[in-house]
Amino acid sequence: MALIVQKYGGTSVGTTERIRNCARRILETQRAGNQVVAVVSAMSGVTDNLIRLASEVSPEQDPSEREMDVLLATGEQTTIALTAMAINALGGKAVSLTGAQAGISTDGVHTRARIVNITPDAVRKMLDEGNIVMLAGFQGETASGEITTLGRGGSDLTAIAMAAAIKADLCQIFTDVDGVYTCDPRVVKTAKKIPEICYEEMLEMASSGSKVMQNRSVEFANKFGVRFEVRNSMNHNPGTLVKEETPGMESVVVRGVSLERNQAKVTIDDVADRPGISAAIFDAIAHANVMIDMIVQNVSFDGITDISFTLSAADLPKAETALKKILPELGEKAQLRTTSGIAKVSVVGIGMRSHSGVAATMFRALADAKINIQMISTSEIKTAVIVQESEIENAARVVHTAFGLDA
Ligand code: ADP
Ligand code: ASP
Ligand code: MG
Repeated sequence: MALIVQKYGGTSVGTTERIRNCARRILETQRAGNQVVAVVSAMSGVTDNLIRLASEVSPEQDPSEREMDVLLATGEQTTIALTAMAINALGGKAVSLTGAQAGISTDGVHTRARIVNITPDAVRKMLDEGNIVMLAGFQGETASGEITTLGRGGSDLTAIAMAAAIKADLCQIFTDVDGVYTCDPRVVKTAKKIPEICYEEMLEMASSGSKVMQNRSVEFANKFGVRFEVRNSMNHNPGTLVKEETPGMESVVVRGVSLERNQAKVTIDDVADRPGISAAIFDAIAHANVMIDMIVQNVSFDGITDISFTLSAADLPKAETALKKILPELGEKAQLRTTSGIAKVSVVGIGMRSHSGVAATMFRALADAKINIQMISTSEIKTAVIVQESEIENAARVVHTAFGLDA
């Protein structure tokens, strides 16, 4: 008998018919002689809708993050109960547990809490009594009993962390595509399913916009060595295995291409070129709780330079407010400029560690397609560029082709 953790995402439980489909699959897995913990997300669109309702009742200010968590956790609570009912209606035996009931303890950072500990006693007891455990994704509880959520896409993290805590034999992430592809298959029709990918590549792809997996969940899987499969909940095709790096994986230079929309750029022109300026800028940004991505500082001229950085477009107002306050400290003529409507394309692969020419191939492909590059950043296993958002899909396609990834 194996112990299996399955996770079904929002689209997979998006209608009552789909919930019944998941219920059948979960029950089949148990009836094949396994113990099953099934994590579910909120029905697709529900979390977004709750966020919209919150902003409608609190239009002038951001709603309290504590209340956001109380609200958002209801989405997953609905689906655990409905899926448990569907399993029971099919003649199975299921019981639903919220994150708190399942012993998922988090820190107190509301809306993006980190799991600090899992005490899976209740889960084990229910499994041993022959139940399928329906576990609410995306949520936990602080030591003082506050409800928390784990950041968007956080049901992936619930599944991987629970799989680690109960030492599951298998962790399966069911979604609405057949696995992890060389690029988002909804954008690049010629993208191919990747049979195996290592944690590091999956993490870079997830962090640069391939939202098929939540990046924090991949980080967790890497840290605790949780292998997992990404598969389609609507068919039985083999999926993608995400696991540790193995010899031979480095022979593929580029494993995949990611795109990230809704980016923005902040430029501060004519800042003084002296120690403390960058520190002042990025202190202000950090205090405003804004995450930044690429940073570029120009070569200075006459003691003056300019600094640009990118961020999510949604954070632009917060960043602008924070920077306006300190602008006079940055130089007599310092000026703030912002650009939205930009996006990022990244190529990712551990083979980049040992192969040269990746940037050249990428830039040539974009040049041939007459796509202008606005900013560039590189890391050991990633090369990323900022382009006009209207060109992002074409950019992803030409880069995908240039690296021979097309099916
Ligand atoms: P779920 O609700 O199951 O968690 P998500 O919407 O979070 O599903 O993730 C699945 C989606 O991720 C797919 O529908 C696909 O459009 C998108 N996606 C982005 N990049 C990739 C990729 N490289 N491979 C597969 N899917 C991707
Ligand atoms: N329902 C949450 C979200 O939409 C968590 C998840 O789906 O994983 O972000
Ligand atoms: Mg998801």
